[in-house]
Amino acid sequence: MQFGTKAIHAGIEPDPSTGAIMTPIFQTSTYVQEEPGKHKGYEYGRTQNPTRDALQRNLAALENGNHALCFASGLAATDAVIKLLQPGDEVIASNDLYGGTYRIFQRVFAPLGIKFHFIEMQNLDEVARHVNAKTRLIWTETPTNPMLNVVDIAAVADIARQNQVLLAVDNTFASPYLQNPLDLGADLVVHSATKYINGHSDVIMGALICNDSDLYERLKFLQNAVGAVPAPMDCFLCLRGIKTLHLRMEQHCNNAEKIALFLQQHPLVGQVNFPGFPQHPGHEIAKKQMRRFGAMVSFTLKNDSLEKAVAVMSATNLFSLAESLGGVESLIGHPASMTHASIPVEQRRQTGVLDSLIRLSVGIEDAEDLIDDLAQALEIGVSLRKK
Ligand SMILES: *Cc1c(COP(=O)(O)O)cnc(C)c1O
Repeated sequence: MQFGTKAIHAGIEPDPSTGAIMTPIFQTSTYVQEEPGKHKGYEYGRTQNPTRDALQRNLAALENGNHALCFASGLAATDAVIKLLQPGDEVIASNDLYGGTYRIFQRVFAPLGIKFHFIEMQNLDEVARHVNAKTRLIWTETPTNPMLNVVDIAAVADIARQNQVLLAVDNTFASPYLQNPLDLGADLVVHSATKYINGHSDVIMGALICNDSDLYERLKFLQNAVGAVPAPMDCFLCLRGIKTLHLRMEQHCNNAEKIALFLQQHPLVGQVNFPGFPQHPGHEIAKKQMRRFGAMVSFTLKNDSLEKAVAVMSATNLFSLAESLGGVESLIGHPASMTHASIPVEQRRQTGVLDSLIRLSVGIEDAEDLIDDLAQALEIGVSLRKK
């Protein structure tokens, strides 16, 4: 079955009790039992919910995995993965992670005795060099946030396998439509379903997808034992969003390619980070492991002027200045003060998150309108220069 068909049908059956085509919202905390322990497979809403089950089956299919688990947020899913570990265990993670992931690693789990090495994951020698007897997990994003670096998933998976270490890939930026890490040898896919999967900026949710049944059982235990489960209504919204994931992603990618080209030619723009450019250092790997190049674009302004960046970000009309990404509407953001504010300044600069870095989550509006909007906003930056 191809992706679009799976998005609409995988794991979803008409409701057996009514024939409803759309998965009902099972807004219930508990389920009747005929006699103690005799029930229809559902006992308590934290443990099981039919709307959530349908979404989990669907997400497993989209990532070509055997199992999926949904959580109340992307970070709740991340939390479950790190809770597989013990004090003394070590994790190798990329140094340009989503800010919230960095924060939960360093501020929640490091004090509990788990050690994190933040490295340049594109550099495979660096990855191999940091593996030791205590390493349990390699954690990466690709493309990364906000620098759009590309990590070779298959190559990192080889290192992980040779050392019997788990590899988790945060696939949020690519979405299951563009990239399937399990097919490339990863053990675990992590999603902030808040972003492209739901796609309409009206739900916070996370998901984990894996093949290994033992790993799944351990994570499922944590999903129930810790209880960071998503609400049935949110699972319904997410299922609805997924039905157009393939269409949305095509339009997201079309628009991003046009906008990246426009920015590259603009006199006020410094560097444009977009894996779709042949000169992007990760372009060949992206071509190998992604269907298209995604819809996240980041760029700096010449001379790295924070003042001009603020002026540009405040002047767009269609691009809303907001955190988050992956919705149908275009967003513009300032990583240094918004999504990446929790990362120390020195480390931020080292990874290229300069003060003037602007990040775009390109939506599915008409590309010409989006380009006009950026053009007029950049004009305001140009006029500042003349003053
Ligand atoms: C948003 C995001 C997260 C966190 O997900 P939430 O749903 O906000 O908890 C994790 N990783 C990436 C790449 C993200 O963009």
